[in-house]
Amino acid sequence: MVVPRTVDLRSDTVTQPTAAMRAAMAAAPLGDDVFGADPSVNALQQHIAEQLGFEAALFVPTGTQGNLCAILAHCGRGDEYLVGQQAHCYRWEGGGAAVFGSVQPQPLDHAPDGTLPLDALESAIKPDDAHFARTRLLALENTLGGKLLPFGYVEAATQLARRKGLARHLDGARLFNAATAQAASTGGDVHGEARRIARCFDSVSVCFSKGLGAPVGSALCGSREFIQRAHRIRKMAGGGMRQTGMLAAAASHALDHHVERLAEDHALARRLATGLHGIEGLAVEAPQTNIVFVDLAGAAQARSAELLAHLAAQGILATGLYRLRFVTHLDVDAAGVDRAVAAVRSFFKAA
Ligand SMILES: *Cc1c(COP(=O)(O)O)cnc(C)c1O
Repeated sequence: MVVPRTVDLRSDTVTQPTAAMRAAMAAAPLGDDVFGADPSVNALQQHIAEQLGFEAALFVPTGTQGNLCAILAHCGRGDEYLVGQQAHCYRWEGGGAAVFGSVQPQPLDHAPDGTLPLDALESAIKPDDAHFARTRLLALENTLGGKLLPFGYVEAATQLARRKGLARHLDGARLFNAATAQAASTGGDVHGEARRIARCFDSVSVCFSKGLGAPVGSALCGSREFIQRAHRIRKMAGGGMRQTGMLAAAASHALDHHVERLAEDHALARRLATGLHGIEGLAVEAPQTNIVFVDLAGAAQARSAELLAHLAAQGILATGLYRLRFVTHLDVDAAGVDRAVAAVRSFFKAA
């Protein structure tokens, strides 16, 4: 019997490097990046900085470290950053900015579209008074939980921040997914849209190890002076790597070959959502990018662990920390999505 391949929809971080990516990694010229002497790292940093319209960039091992370096480069001890309740750099990074930087987050509730309402942002900015932390930074995330922040909102929120003297950081772990979705509605191209979003910010972090399909790595982009500060923080955080050009080469390969194809992931997410539509007991959120959230409703509500186990037994992997989550990526195809749909349907038919 042929055992069907696992369809791993837990995250877009599970991708394996392609043969072409591995070849690029193997062929990468290397040097000691702590001396600034790794040509593959330097090329990547220059490439991503230029692509997003910044002076400089820094290759970091993880998106978490990229956000940490950004927040600590923008803020000092006793400063604070405005951030969404669901934002990765508030909720999902172990409180690193507070732990390592004595920087206080000021979390704000999201509107249903993922935005932080402008009036809430404005009233969260503290007056210059000894009672308060100094509000220094606005951190947005795009995409947030698979949602594209409306571009008009991004412009308005970052203009407000600028007017109030705050720096602006974008956690753009999935910036190219956001740009892909935005390009689909404006008719623009994905790189142009990525630059348009990035231009609203003083710094942007981007993950290569999500939908772009590299095994490791993120970049933090900003002004030359900002990146110098971030570089010092990366060193303190233990992120000064040596012949890391092999990883940078994977990221460069991803930028060259895996950006335009993100639209395929988005189409597969829509295919999955459409396939799950109409199942009694399931509420499916229409995906804007590559992440499909599904809520179990009514009598099915308590059965998410059972459903995940049923799927796993058929080689379909998903997560269900708060809500069921299916993520499409480079290593998932239409046949895999259809198998996932059939497996979910069989669970509810048997019930
Ligand atoms: C994945 C992710 C990160 C960084 O994650 P690492 O696992 O540290 O690379 C940061 N922000 C968002 C929105 C993410 O999805």
